[in-house]
Amino acid sequence: MYKLHRNCDITHLTTFGLPARCAALLEWTDNGDLADALRLERLPRPFLIIGGGSNLLFTRPFEGTVFHRLGQPELDAVCESYCREGVWGFENLSGIPGSIFGAAVQNAGAYGTEMKDVVSEVKVTDLENGDRFTLSNRDMQFGYRHSALKNPETAGRYLITDITFRPEASGPAITHKAVRQIIESIGAENATPMAVREKIKALRDSKLPQPALTGSAGSFFRNPEITACEFEALSQKFPDAPHFAQADGRIKVPAAWLIDRAGLKGAAEGGAQVWPLQPLVIVNATGSATAADVLALERRICNEVTLKFNINLIPEVQHI
Ligand SMILES: Cc1cc2nc3c(=O)[nH]c(=O)nc-3n(C[C@H](O)[C@H](O)[C@H](O)COP(=O)(O)OP(=O)(O)OC[C@H]3O[C@@H](n4cnc5c(N)ncnc54)[C@H](O)[C@@H]3O)c2cc1C
Repeated sequence: MYKLHRNCDITHLTTFGLPARCAALLEWTDNGDLADALRLERLPRPFLIIGGGSNLLFTRPFEGTVFHRLGQPELDAVCESYCREGVWGFENLSGIPGSIFGAAVQNAGAYGTEMKDVVSEVKVTDLENGDRFTLSNRDMQFGYRHSALKNPETAGRYLITDITFRPEASGPAITHKAVRQIIESIGAENATPMAVREKIKALRDSKLPQPALTGSAGSFFRNPEITACEFEALSQKFPDAPHFAQADGRIKVPAAWLIDRAGLKGAAEGGAQVWPLQPLVIVNATGSATAADVLALERRICNEVTLKFNINLIPEVQHI
């Protein structure tokens, strides 16, 4: 069975909780139902696929069809299940909201682990003609919060229906300082995937808004990657600027630090606010914020960070 709704409110399909509408919403549970809908219905274009809606900002009503599969597996539930079985590789991804499909498209990641480290392959349906095929980990061209399915020519066309995981780690992934501290606090001999997962979740809860209580889409901006020359200029003015060298020679500077040092922690525009515990997150503080409030705050943050550091911030949250 599938259901096609016309001109509907889809605020509940996003974690930001800002008013959102679309011309058509297609909901289904089985792959066969999706194939029926593609064959039988005339669906308004363009197409947009929504998983858990935890990385989306609706800035205006969407004039096409939103595809939303009911009962999608959530990333955190999958992480819990692997950790419970004693399998390493998913513990650092624990607590990231949203579906496993959206996470694969985004190459979601935290504490030094990304989806690219655990995905073997994905099965997709081409929404243009109903064809189904498989993409390997390599085909997905994973990058920083990026995959081949985010390219402008593929977005909204290829819908992931299945994922195969390949957990290969033989122990915890300890590239991030926070994970090192967690392992030290538990003791290496007691470190199980489940024990690390619980600490990671507690750490996230201490900094990030709970989607059920406060609307947001997580990190609003990407961490900028600047040239060595640009970093030289930055560090002359701000010798304490945290930075991480990248394989390609560029230098990543945490956007949260830039926003904090620009004095914007807690800054607000209408009902939108920079989350005081993690300035990389913009929240729907009043529960009644509008997209205009969020966009005004985004503009203000970008302007002030550019003025102070000569660095341009780029949003991570997808604007619709
Ligand atoms: C409180 C909070 C904390 C967060 N913390 C993190 C974090 O630590 N790390 C991190 O990386 N992200 C984080 N996020 C952002 C977000 O949770 C992740 O990006 C998540 O993986 C998105 O999954 P989703 O299912 O909600 O995707 P959606 O927001 O629904 O969609 C994201 C993208 O994937 C596409 N898509 C969704 N499903 C499919 C499908 N089946 N087939 C093809 N395309 C699809 C959409 O069209 C869109 O382009 C956080 C968000 C919140 C609210």
